[in-house]
Amino acid sequence: MARILHSDPAHLDLLAHHLAAGGIAAVPTETVYGLAGHALEAVPVAKIFSVKGRPRRNPLIVHVSDWEGVEAIAHVTDLDRMVGERFWPGPLTLILKKKSTVPASVTAGLDTVAVRIPSHPLVRALLRRCSFPLAAPSANPFGYISPTRPEHVETALGPSIDYILDGGICEGGIESTIVSLLDPDEPKLLRQGAIGLESLEETIGQSIRLSTDAPGEKPTRGLLSPGLMERHYSPHTLLRTFRGSLPKTGKGDAIVFLNAASCRGAHHFALSATGQLEEVARNLYDRLYRLDEKGYGTLFLEVPEGDGLAAAIRDRMGRASASP
Ligand code: AMP
Ligand code: MG
Repeated sequence: MARILHSDPAHLDLLAHHLAAGGIAAVPTETVYGLAGHALEAVPVAKIFSVKGRPRRNPLIVHVSDWEGVEAIAHVTDLDRMVGERFWPGPLTLILKKKSTVPASVTAGLDTVAVRIPSHPLVRALLRRCSFPLAAPSANPFGYISPTRPEHVETALGPSIDYILDGGICEGGIESTIVSLLDPDEPKLLRQGAIGLESLEETIGQSIRLSTDAPGEKPTRGLLSPGLMERHYSPHTLLRTFRGSLPKTGKGDAIVFLNAASCRGAHHFALSATGQLEEVARNLYDRLYRLDEKGYGTLFLEVPEGDGLAAAIRDRMGRASASP
């Protein structure tokens, strides 16, 4: 079983040594828990892929503590800098031209690398102790629900990893927004997240196309066509989404509403007290983890309307309910 580490300096030192020596560990970020390893070394990177069962064609996001760390691994344009300065530290991942220091295994052979400066104080304290960047995809078996609490990591990966750094509940609750500004005339949103398309467009002063061609992902034709999406973030229990009117449920099914005010029965659950989207995002994966253990026939999940964070939540719900 994994040993739980906390924020005290001795634990952070121990973890930094473990990572420097090629080990991997689960660490909290403001989005979800990541499975972290030295991004410039082949052995930890290979461990990350094998522990997650992640296909090699799916490149990893590399986490650094500051701009110096970004520049050590990637080429940064003025446009990248402007966007990074607005949203970092935080849940934004930028696709940058990579430098030769980054191994091909991290980027799935691409000449670009996905980079993020996270804001969670614990992962920042850890990064400051490491003289190297950390590759860190979500700390869950490939395709399963992303972890937002240390218990989730323990449940899904506990026997395969040595350490979990306990940072409590991840505030954001869904993965980072991924943007590519490689072609400055055609900025692309590769994944929706907490940072909405609208605030990115406002920052760069032009419109951003929602791209469906992130490497490692099957094409996504239309955000609300769950059947066409690559399955991801999914519980083992059958999941169906609904909006507006109540779904037809059978015995042994459960309904997960956005707002607690909608709950009427024993097998009704809510993602928030009042329907507030930040709370919905924060609770989504935790609710799925907990309900996945209950043996329900089907979970019916209410989908939010709107853009920004609502669109990102809808994206995750759609993928989580996609057919295998
Ligand atoms: P995950 O680590 O599972 O949260 O997801 C990482 C995401 O980043 C995947 O969807 C990748 O397709 C995307 N990604 C990572 N590296 C690159 C890259 N060099 N270019 C474009 N997308 C990338
Ligand atoms: Mg993931």
